[in-house]
Amino acid sequence: MKEEWFSSSQNDVEVSLRPQSFDEFIGQKKILKNLRIFIHAASQRNEPLDHLLLYGPPGLGKTTIAHIIAHEMGGTLKTTSGPVMEKKADLAAIMTSLNPGDVLFIDEIHRMNRAVEECLYPALEDNVIDIILGEGPHANNIRLQLNPFTLVGATTRAGLLTTPLRERFGIVSRLEFYNMDEMVQIIHRNAGLLRIQVTKKAAEELAKRSRGTPRIANTLLKRVRDIAQVKKVSLLDHKVACEALGQLDIDEYGLDHMTKTLLRIILEKFEGGPVGLSTLAIALGEEADTIEDVYEPYLIKQGFLKRTPRGRMTTLKTVRILQK
Ligand code: ADP
Repeated sequence: MKEEWFSSSQNDVEVSLRPQSFDEFIGQKKILKNLRIFIHAASQRNEPLDHLLLYGPPGLGKTTIAHIIAHEMGGTLKTTSGPVMEKKADLAAIMTSLNPGDVLFIDEIHRMNRAVEECLYPALEDNVIDIILGEGPHANNIRLQLNPFTLVGATTRAGLLTTPLRERFGIVSRLEFYNMDEMVQIIHRNAGLLRIQVTKKAAEELAKRSRGTPRIANTLLKRVRDIAQVKKVSLLDHKVACEALGQLDIDEYGLDHMTKTLLRIILEKFEGGPVGLSTLAIALGEEADTIEDVYEPYLIKQGFLKRTPRGRMTTLKTVRILQK
């Protein structure tokens, strides 16, 4: 066995797989093409990029794009998330720390407290933030001028944002699941960074089972590497990949235990549906939001699940694969 490519696995796991530039970023071509133009134009005017809303299922590259924008604009990325900012002061603290050209990334922006969200409006529109100093009758409203910055908001569904917030973004982009070709490229790239030797057929198999999502591909690559390492196999070929994926309980459609259980519940407990989301959430023991944001988009895209006005329904395709 060749030890070298496994020997520093401890460090390997920490190797950042995040693409650092637009050139390294695979897929999402339309979004990238537009962003390159907008960034170029803004830089020529010596202005920050307009505020950007990225939406789409988790793991498709929203955070990565925010990092790249900050890098391209020569600014620093400051990261926070909607639910973390409980008070106006939390938002004010982060906004007043921004230097000219910085990028503020707010993940799960739809989960921001309403009062905090309202505080964001003047910041986005006029680059100012109102803070209240003191309490009661002596309270003083102070308006602070902010440095020019770009907000990148991320959400799993644009529909969850309030209209006033959505309307304050100059650019709204929806990230799509990656196609097979793109996933194969991502797997080869990331396998290289993790120093895994992977054959073309193995990469295709991993791509097929990654649900069009780079984050899932990374997780599978790491777990498959663990299994190959324990088996003392140095080259990840198709056979090893399939065995490892079988061991991880990921089937040929990329469905894992949870997604298959979800489909099975609709099919077997509710005779194929329609079943309401909240009932489904109770039966599965999972949050309704997680079902809607994490599991459903891919199942719907692949035709395993239908959303109807009366509830969720399985399809003939589901019956076929579950009865296999
Ligand atoms: P999101 O913010 O949408 O949940 P991230 O930007 O955190 O997703 O991406 C998850 C991981 O997937 C990143 O750490 C990165 O390694 C990988 N990734 C995402 N997009 C790409 C891409 N286009 N090419 C290569 N790897 C990617």
